[in-house]
Amino acid sequence: MRAIVINDTGAIKFDPSHPAPVPNSSYALIRPTLAGVCNTDLELAKGYMGYKGVLGHEFTGIVEQAEDSELIGKRVVSEINFACGHCTMCDRGLHRHCQNRTVLGILGASGAFADYLIAPSQNLHIVPDSVSDRQAVFTEPLAAALEIMEQIDINPDQQVAVMGDGKLGLLIAQALATTGCDLTAIGRHENRLSILSGRGLKTAFDSELKGENSIFDVVIDATGSPTGLATALDLVRPCGTIVLKTTVSNPGELDINRIVIDEIQVLGSRCGPFDKALLALEGGGIDVEPMITDVLPLERGVEALKLAEDNTRLKILLEI
Ligand SMILES: [Zn+2]
Ligand SMILES: [Zn+2]
Repeated sequence: MRAIVINDTGAIKFDPSHPAPVPNSSYALIRPTLAGVCNTDLELAKGYMGYKGVLGHEFTGIVEQAEDSELIGKRVVSEINFACGHCTMCDRGLHRHCQNRTVLGILGASGAFADYLIAPSQNLHIVPDSVSDRQAVFTEPLAAALEIMEQIDINPDQQVAVMGDGKLGLLIAQALATTGCDLTAIGRHENRLSILSGRGLKTAFDSELKGENSIFDVVIDATGSPTGLATALDLVRPCGTIVLKTTVSNPGELDINRIVIDEIQVLGSRCGPFDKALLALEGGGIDVEPMITDVLPLERGVEALKLAEDNTRLKILLEI
């Protein structure tokens, strides 16, 4: 099959004859139709997680083969953490934290930038008819955005800052805005922030915030930058909360004294609820369409990953 891979030397290549994955009985064989390039893919290409193999974890596709015949032919998305089902974390219901997990296109599981992928049938969610492929491909990152509201209460009395105007930052800002909180989306790119201001959200350039230190109850770091947490500490009030969404191949250093002295709660946040993400896409409260800047065929995947580093681009999709 055709695939975009990180090869043994760490280079990203188009492989026209990559071996197709073979499902066992609990897995389904899926033909991805549309996939999204994520910043995590760019970090993986720089060595994050030491991953080798087929890239891609954001996709929608059609089930070709599955033990449960109801799934065959259905349009699906897949949760990306593949759990073992019998470790201590799985026993506690923490499947996304399974000690033996593989992660689609990130850790030990062949990804979605290919003609075929396999995923556990129990990870699949059927995409409602009213949600287009171009929307469905955002289910995984939108679920990650919604995870924040699973972890902490965000309410209309709070001042909340979302740092970062990348793809995830824009989704988080739209998702948190639905709570009615006093939200400021902070970024560096006029073209990206205008997607939010066009929807009535308050935006600011990070250079403008120098005088507004320590006012936010909650600060979300979705900058994707090793210095994001230090900046978040400048913005959060004493006894406030910082939510970290940034993972980078080279984590920075940090003075943790400020966290202790100001009694800041720091919360890591990763993957989230797919069912709620699909509902949000269905409800139309989250607009992903203005975020799509390019759609390229799978064969041009290497070029797509290069383009994704260009600040004038936002979501780049691969048509398979
Ligand atoms: Zn992603
Ligand atoms: Zn497990």
